[in-house]
Amino acid sequence: MEAWTAKLKTIKTLEERLAREETLEARRDHHAKRPPRPCGITIHTGVGCPLACAYCYIYDMGFPGAASPYRLTPLQMAYAIAANPHVAVGEWGTLVAVGSVTEPFLPETKELAVGYMKAVAAYLGNPIQVSTKMPPPAELADVQKGLDVLISVTDLSGRLEPKAPSPADRLRAGAELLRRGVNVTLFVRPVVPDVTDRELTRLLAYARELGFRRVVFGTLRVTAGIAARLKAFGVDVRPYVKELHPRRQTAINYPKSRVVATAKELGFEVLPASCASNVVAHGQACALCRWGPCGDLKKLRADPEEIREYLEARGYRGAGVAVEGLRIRLNIKISRVDKIFLEQATRLPVKEGAGRN
Ligand code: SF4
Ligand code: SF4
Repeated sequence: MEAWTAKLKTIKTLEERLAREETLEARRDHHAKRPPRPCGITIHTGVGCPLACAYCYIYDMGFPGAASPYRLTPLQMAYAIAANPHVAVGEWGTLVAVGSVTEPFLPETKELAVGYMKAVAAYLGNPIQVSTKMPPPAELADVQKGLDVLISVTDLSGRLEPKAPSPADRLRAGAELLRRGVNVTLFVRPVVPDVTDRELTRLLAYARELGFRRVVFGTLRVTAGIAARLKAFGVDVRPYVKELHPRRQTAINYPKSRVVATAKELGFEVLPASCASNVVAHGQACALCRWGPCGDLKKLRADPEEIREYLEARGYRGAGVAVEGLRIRLNIKISRVDKIFLEQATRLPVKEGAGRN
């Protein structure tokens, strides 16, 4: 199976370029262990963030209010991702998302973030997406064909993000990348009741005028601390949540149908999740979760013979493999790691039978 061969080859190539100590450090890192979710694997470019957006969840997760660059070098990060046993490597491999528990383009981490993206693009080739509240750097135009840049905003005023550059500045920098041929998507995240919807048409119309054509709307998730911070900014989320927990995040119950309808009326392609934007930007497809399938489904191919070969290489003998529409059926049970890898490599859900052969 191509993704398996590519993985072994990439690991070997990177081991030839790294010192043994560096490979050991990378293998100990959580990027080399964490199972990707259907929507892909996230790369952390730093620890902490000073921008203090009112709705941000990282502080409840224990991250600090100052940023420091992540400890791995770009080659180590590429190696950690390739060595992660769950991750499929290659152009159609696991989706890679940069910027989930920090802002990647802070002055402290910008160079490293671009370095991570360049190393993953050069050595693995997996589809990369980056989301930002800073004006994205122009050099992103050279990172990867199909790179997806998400410009994250909640409204045009930026009143919940007082320390971040103004949303208009972010959008204009995104438009500059659009002019350079990069895929840039409007990421309205999170949709905050009585904030995002107040001037949504103005925000969307401005983005359209700048050249944005795709949009993703993200749900607000709150803890008790986030709800209290939002309250201090004049936003009351209590009508939209049943319970608030100190650490566990709860998605607010606020229908997005109206914001979606407004975006469609203005001519936007509305995608169901950020990973869908990564898939579409790279001209690919995915059917891994209930929000999809996404992209050009004709391109989703799974060859039962190749899957059997992969399973043999992993020690499963005589497995029955059938590709049934948008899913793979096996007549045996396989390990969680192998199942996730197979799903990542094919972008199709795997259903198992009983009993290992
Ligand atoms: S920029 Fe992102 S990580 Fe930083 S505070 Fe805002 S939401 Fe949190
Ligand atoms: S099917 Fe679509 S929404 Fe679901 S994981 Fe794949 S790209 Fe994301």
